[in-house]
Amino acid sequence: MRSSVCVFALLSAILPAALAVVLADTNLMINGITFPTRAHWMRLANEALGEISGSPCPFAAFGTVIVNHTASEAGKLICMGVNENENTGNPSLHGEMAAIKNCTAILTDPHGKFRMSASEAQDAFADLTLYTNAESCPMV
Ligand SMILES: [Zn+2]
Repeated sequence: MRSSVCVFALLSAILPAALAVVLADTNLMINGITFPTRAHWMRLANEALGEISGSPCPFAAFGTVIVNHTASEAGKLICMGVNENENTGNPSLHGEMAAIKNCTAILTDPHGKFRMSASEAQDAFADLTLYTNAESCPMV
């Protein structure tokens, strides 16, 4: 599958071997989240590329999902995002930043499910988990 090859190549290039071993430990809980749950959300972060950009391996193939794990370990998807540098001309819209922008719009939509104020949305991010298919950059 082309997207798997692309993401694997990217991860291999940037993840130090020791970190890759730790992240692949199927018994390791991170913040109370099991490996199968983390793997599920990482697969969805990869799938966001095809779903949003139309290509499983676009330029700057960084996909992100933002998940709420407060109600259950399995979590609930709040939003997705992919790198939007090329199609917007905005150099700050990395995959992570695009997902945060998308989540903010969803959380503060006056006709949406959450209908939060700006300050409520900012507070809500403290309870959300960001999954991205590349090492998070210092912008997040
Ligand atoms: Zn970034």
